[in-house]
Amino acid sequence: MATEPKFIVLVGPPGAGKGTQAVKLHEALNLPHVASGDLFRQNLKDETELGLKARSYIERGELVPDDVTIAMVMERLSQPDCVNGALLDGFPRTIAQAEALDQALAARGQKISVVPYISVPDEVLVERLSGRRLCRVCGKSYHILFNPPRQPRMCDEDGGELYQRDDDKPETVRNRLKVYWERTSPLIDYYRRRGVLVEINGDQPIEKVAADLRTAVADD
Ligand code: ADP
Ligand code: AMP
Repeated sequence: MATEPKFIVLVGPPGAGKGTQAVKLHEALNLPHVASGDLFRQNLKDETELGLKARSYIERGELVPDDVTIAMVMERLSQPDCVNGALLDGFPRTIAQAEALDQALAARGQKISVVPYISVPDEVLVERLSGRRLCRVCGKSYHILFNPPRQPRMCDEDGGELYQRDDDKPETVRNRLKVYWERTSPLIDYYRRRGVLVEINGDQPIEKVAADLRTAVADD
């Protein structure tokens, strides 16, 4: 039986739990997890031309220019595993990116199914980002207090070393939140007007947020 394509866009400030929840939704829905931040970090690691273009913006907590970002994500969405949908995390982050995504999906006869907006107060975000640790091997996100690994500094999945992102240091976090409120939060109204936004309270335990999200994506 053919299934309806499902494009889910997770919106929310840095540290809201988009990555944490996308991993769970990916397991539940079997949709590819397309995270623009992860794509950029892979390019930085591989020292590609794209990585070189993006580096200074990422280090300062600024957004990478739209043309570079849109081209990178569209290339990813054109891969065969995304024909039936994807879980987008961290993209779009500007109105221009949202319009580019709408146009690209429309050209394929597709559209966004639902946009869960994970809301979390700024003071909680700062605490979350300062304690966030990532696996060097698989990128899985932990928190030293709220979601610790079973063994200190080691990924539960593959034993990879956990590290702190340079842009999770307090000075950069403050700028990322400012950029979020200025450039990304207008997306909340953009998607609300299109009738696809569902607000999720992200200031709850991880499993409760996951349950609310499963309901939101099942109802769309
Ligand atoms: P995002 O992808 O939105 O930037 P992450 O999923 O990486 O955010 O989560 C940021 C940090 O907060 C991580 O350290 C993660 O373990 C932790 N975290 C995520 N969701 C919750 C939650 N509901 N309660 C407490 N900590 C959380
Ligand atoms: P993230 O992992 O989503 O927190 O993203 C890390 C950094 O990558 C951001 O602070 C930006 O510099 C850059 N980035 C990720 N996604 C985008 C996007 N959609 N538009 C512009 N820059 C982005």
